[in-house]
Amino acid sequence: MQANKGSLVPYGEDEWTSRAADAFRTLFEKACEVFFVFNGTAANSLALAALCQSYNSVICSSYAHVETDECGAPEFFSNGSKLLVARTDSAKLTAHDVRTLSTCRHDIHYPKPRAVTITQPTETGELYSLTEIRQIAAACHELGLYLHMDGSRFANACAALGCSPADMTWRAGVDVLCFGGTKNGMAVSEAILFFERSLADGFDYRCKQAGQLASKMRFLSAPWVGMLESGAWLRTAHHANACAKRLAEQLTDLSNITLMFPVQTNSVFIKSEERILDRLRMRGWRFYTFIGGGARFVFAWDADPAQVDRLAADIRLLSRIEPLNAAVEDQFPDPQQPSSLD
Ligand SMILES: *Cc1c(COP(=O)(O)O)cnc(C)c1O
Repeated sequence: MQANKGSLVPYGEDEWTSRAADAFRTLFEKACEVFFVFNGTAANSLALAALCQSYNSVICSSYAHVETDECGAPEFFSNGSKLLVARTDSAKLTAHDVRTLSTCRHDIHYPKPRAVTITQPTETGELYSLTEIRQIAAACHELGLYLHMDGSRFANACAALGCSPADMTWRAGVDVLCFGGTKNGMAVSEAILFFERSLADGFDYRCKQAGQLASKMRFLSAPWVGMLESGAWLRTAHHANACAKRLAEQLTDLSNITLMFPVQTNSVFIKSEERILDRLRMRGWRFYTFIGGGARFVFAWDADPAQVDRLAADIRLLSRIEPLNAAVEDQFPDPQQPSSLD
């Protein structure tokens, strides 16, 4: 509301934007370069493009958002840098994966690896420990690769690990971080932090060219001032994580419901029989199943614990239905009109 008063210099030359950048420097205990863009796809794509030439490649996990959910934007904005996907069973990359993929070919016919990207927490809600990040970073730097972190839920990782943002990033060897605001309750805006300032050379032009330089930048940057200076960024992340745990804890004793991944941050993935998931949909719950066919529940900054309990109660009830047990199934009406996906 304060930033909405009067007029200010446009294109990020205003005091809100410098105050937000300073708030990041204070939080990260580092004189880093800070940029604000509209969303995470742009943040990841432009950050990776800044690290690569068009003939380079970026090593990532097969679960990585850059690979599965960005419509080729990293390749597009880098003019062709190829993603090299590690065919692992887990969303987490290891130092071993990095070594294997970056040393399997050295000839001129292969896109030369230049960067590695990890998602913290991962797309499956799991965490890299500080030791794992340090190991990956050590492998990267030994092999001449930069380490990028997709932190669209970075706050949730900080809350869960209880460590400082600095320890999880530059002190562990991360070169560039995309720090998500949208999933932590902001309207728009993701921050890109270059811990090695020279990597940001020309990045302002890259943002402008990609349509990511907001003329009224203060509306992207000022909310960060509120988020960071009040500590809301971490408080809301703790709340979201606690809601995921709250759901998971109410499901652990059910024999036909499996948690697909350890619940370490704000998401819960449930594996169950299709008929149970169908019944859950009929009760009005809306969820994705795009990762391994499981039901994906991701808890927001403002998730309502009472609603979490209602979800848990419905899952518990439905998990007790025997196949073809008409007496119990009759308790459930026909599919309702889908409620909005929010
Ligand atoms: C949501 C998300 C992003 C960013 O997505 P946008 O919709 O472009 O803001 C990036 N990485 C991960 C892991 C995400 O879940």
